[in-house]
Parts: sequence; structure tokens; C-alpha cells
Amino acid sequence: MLIHGLQKMTLLDFPGKVACTVFFDGCNFRCPFCHNSELLGVGFPPLMDDGELLAFLEKRKGVLDGVCITGGEPLLQKELPALLESIKNMGFLVKLDTNGSFPETLAELIDKGLVDYVAMDIKNSPRRYAETIGKERYDLSKVEKSIALLLTGKVDYEFRTTVVAQLHDEESFREIGKWIQGAKRYFLQCFAPRDSVLQPGLDAPSEADIHRYAEIARFYVPETGVRGV
Ligand code: SF4
Repeated sequence: MLIHGLQKMTLLDFPGKVACTVFFDGCNFRCPFCHNSELLGVGFPPLMDDGELLAFLEKRKGVLDGVCITGGEPLLQKELPALLESIKNMGFLVKLDTNGSFPETLAELIDKGLVDYVAMDIKNSPRRYAETIGKERYDLSKVEKSIALLLTGKVDYEFRTTVVAQLHDEESFREIGKWIQGAKRYFLQCFAPRDSVLQPGLDAPSEADIHRYAEIARFYVPETGVRGV
């Protein structure tokens, strides 16, 4: 199993935990604002294999609480359940980032107790979803299944949206709020413009706008927070 990036320590990626972050390449979405566009399956050279990762983790026992699994879209990796089993057997907590388009794999990982925290992207309101993931059209049924699965509360989780000035407005957060009503927690993350994103020229929302959007979402999900401003 090939690993394309490793952040050896983070205090930010896994809420309340000291963790490392493991990056896998490949994604079925093409979000124009993607910060990890070098990991979208364009042949970026791998950093290590799963054996080397497990050897690294062996040395971090007692130092790290957990491991964040991100991408790309990590649920594209067929061997992920086996790797997570090894990581859990070493005593680490696992946080998974996902775009929500593989509900069956997500359910399998949750049922097997292989994830402790899931952060799922809600890219936009259903009306603007396809545009926000860089597609002409998109069947939302899989994303809806993942939302329903997390809302059952079988595993700790958050929903989150990267907010981009050109893609989101007040109506986005009214619609998203209704969609995920009753969720445990929701975060609006401010887009940070970078040269490496897929579509240049996108802007961050103003601070006032993102706080107004959070206020709208809070009506549906009281524990709504803002990150990155
Ligand atoms: S789902 Fe995530 S990794 Fe995939 S294109 Fe969108 S932002 Fe990038």
C-alpha cells in the first residue's frame, strides 16, 4: 500500500489529540479549491509503503494519540481496512477524512471499530454540489447515505465545508443546515487561496460573511464553528 505524504505530528488535525497525518493519493472529485491537488492521481511519487508507516508508528507509541487518514479520498484504497486494523492493534486512535462518496466502506470501517472519528466534507448545498466538486452532474445518493450513517451517531464525527467566495452564499448554508439538521457538530473552514489549487482566481469569503453563514447554519446545527479566520 503506497503512502504519498506523512505529517509526523499535528495538534490541529485530530480534535483534542496529538496525531500524525497520513496522505493517500487519488480522488474521485475535482474540487476547484483542492489544496492537495498534487494527490489527485497524477502520478505523484509515493513517500513510503505501509510497512514503513507501521515501523514509524511503532517508534511513536506513547508520543502520538492517534493517526489521521486523509487524501485525496482515502476510502478509494482497497487495503485501507487491513492497514487500519494494524494501526488500531498498535493502540492508536484513528481519524478518517472523507468526501462521503463511499458509504458502504465507511459503514464497514465503523462496524469493525476501525475508526474513532470521521470528518466528512459537505461540499455545498445539493443545488451547487456538482459545480463545487468540479463535475457537470453528480448523483448525491452516496453522499446522502454517508450523512445518514453519521447522523446515527455510531461513531464520533463532524461535518465540514470549505467556504469559497465564488461557490457559497447565505442560501448554501440554509440548504446545508436543513440537510444535516441534528448533526453533532459542523465547521465552516475558510478557503485559503494558494497557487496550487485546481482553479486559480478563487477567493476566501470575508470574515463577516463566514461568520454570518455560521450563524445561519447554527439555527440547524447549534454546535457550528468557524475555522481558519
Ligand atoms: S474531495 Fe478533497 S481531495 Fe478530493 S478533490 Fe475535493 S478537496 Fe481535493
